[in-house]
Amino acid sequence: MLTPLEIWSALEDVKDPEIPVVSVVEMGIVRMVAVEHGKVTVTMTPTFSGCPALHVMKSEIENRIRQMGVESVEVIVALAPRWTTDWITEAGRAKLKAFGLAPPPRVNGDANVFFVEAAACPFCGSSDTAIKNTFGPTLCRTIHYCNACRQPFEQFKPV
Ligand SMILES: [Zn+2]
Repeated sequence: MLTPLEIWSALEDVKDPEIPVVSVVEMGIVRMVAVEHGKVTVTMTPTFSGCPALHVMKSEIENRIRQMGVESVEVIVALAPRWTTDWITEAGRAKLKAFGLAPPPRVNGDANVFFVEAAACPFCGSSDTAIKNTFGPTLCRTIHYCNACRQPFEQFKPV
């Protein structure tokens, strides 16, 4: 019988469809893994409730577990508590940065306050940056411009 730990590590193979360098585990999307009487139950919380990637992630999580020979798999989508950028792991943050996405500042649940704060440029580390627009290619990102190295970059909107 598989252990929850083995399931967790297999789920590292499932990437966030919007940011293919980070896994659903690193994004903090997978909240809970339970193995009971041969049945695997995974609880996940999407980054945004209207996220079109939700169904993709849900079936990828399910398929990945079936690949391990588990026949009974249930993926539960939990919308409360709301996903927060604080759930992104340290490894996930490092990968977001390497991908050119500035990791969100830690907000400890109080999101909007930090929204307009200067983001550090993921390329040169300068904090001399400006917000270009509040909505990036997806609802979860903002576009910034670095005045130091003159490059645009995206930051995860802390939620
Ligand atoms: Zn820069």
